Amino acid sequence: MKLAWSKKNAWEKAPAWVRAAAGPLMSRIPVPWLLGRAFRRHRRFVAQVDRWPAQRAREYQVEQLRRICLLAQARSEFYRRQFQQAGFEAGDLKSPEDLSGLPVIDKRVVVDNLEAMCTEAPDGPGIDFVSTGGSSGLPLRFYAPASRSAVEFAYLVACWERAGYQLGMPTAVLRGQIVKSIHNGMRHEYDPLLRRHYYSNFHTAPEELARYLAHIAGLGPCALMAYPTSATMLARFASRQGDKAPHNIRVVLMGSENVYPFERQIVEQVFGCRVMSWYGHSEKLVLASECECASAYHVWPTYGYCELLDEAGQPVRQVGQRGEIVGTGFINHIVPLIRYRTGDFARYVGQRCSACGREQMLLEDIEGRYLQSCLLAADGSAISAVAFNVHDETFNNVEDYQFHQSEAGKATLWVVASGGLSPRQAEKLLANVNGRLQGQVRVDLRCVESLVVTERGKKPRIISTVKGGENAPDSAKLQVR
Ligand SMILES: [Zn+2]
Repeated sequence: MKLAWSKKNAWEKAPAWVRAAAGPLMSRIPVPWLLGRAFRRHRRFVAQVDRWPAQRAREYQVEQLRRICLLAQARSEFYRRQFQQAGFEAGDLKSPEDLSGLPVIDKRVVVDNLEAMCTEAPDGPGIDFVSTGGSSGLPLRFYAPASRSAVEFAYLVACWERAGYQLGMPTAVLRGQIVKSIHNGMRHEYDPLLRRHYYSNFHTAPEELARYLAHIAGLGPCALMAYPTSATMLARFASRQGDKAPHNIRVVLMGSENVYPFERQIVEQVFGCRVMSWYGHSEKLVLASECECASAYHVWPTYGYCELLDEAGQPVRQVGQRGEIVGTGFINHIVPLIRYRTGDFARYVGQRCSACGREQMLLEDIEGRYLQSCLLAADGSAISAVAFNVHDETFNNVEDYQFHQSEAGKATLWVVASGGLSPRQAEKLLANVNGRLQGQVRVDLRCVESLVVTERGKKPRIISTVKGGENAPDSAKLQVR
């Protein structure tokens, strides 16, 4: 992944000791100042728009859609051709529904047309090359402005604050970061910028979890940010420890995987606080979260334009009906994604939340591209598939992949590669995956023609017959296609 120079990218690439050394100074500076001017500007904007009436938000969406379509028409060869074929004139766009005159696009379209979709030379300053995974098909690669993270973070903070999070609050994180051991053997790293305590999601044997919980208990009022599978694992472990569950967690922030009701229940019960979940993705097209009182996902109308489409490509308007989330982003002006099929599905709830009064599109039961699943290490660590979602250049020839596990500590990576893999490519791919898993699971490789899919057509990242491995409810019924 090529990253532009930006303060955020530089900070994330800095060695742990540099970040640790900067800690004492940074602890004296308010977090909004550390996060920069762009973040503060967007934070003020997000606070203003949060309660906009539907009509005001709609006007804003028209302005933004027209801006992004005009840019695409003027500077992107792909969109110019596509608009011409559809008889679409960006300057004539008068309502969000006018977009329906354009075809939807998907990951395959972006993979095949990336350079022609760009509105400017992608090797310019301030542009990142982003690579992201998915439950099916190719990894998605595109260009995006390095500034996108400040925008997204302003929205995320606003989401989390609805449930009791405060910017600058210590946050215990159990997600995909690679975390090394410190002097006492615990895997822990502190980031003074976001006041985050990272623990290793790759090392969750009982003695490691006990250390993490004891450390979290000493953080004072804090948030826990974790994949739903990780938070549930931690809660179950804490519950087995009796009164050793920390009582200082004020909110549990869950993203990146589907959240099942049983997980919410266990986590809220054990930690005695609210679970707040949100929906977003690397493409930065649609962002939604729960509100103060209701668990439906409230879609931010000013972040991007969200459509929910049925199988025939028609908008879902009936409450209770499911559809695919199709997004048009307002943030990425380098590679505009207009009517992009996310591969994520949700149930339509309405256009207004009766609990909080926000006039925003409401969705529930979001089924993401990632089915929940874990690989099991020999020491008992359950490693979420999202944590080791690797998709760098070693996956260039890989069309799709899936892990198969029948014994803890070992797994086979099934790979579909249209042109096959040379021994050198296979070796590099395996070195990458095994490196990411840090020896916790030894992986070997098998080239196959097709992968295992569920009855609902989803391809789980992991097919496991080991107890404690994959636990997505619908992956119990599998078939080979
Ligand atoms: Zn609400």
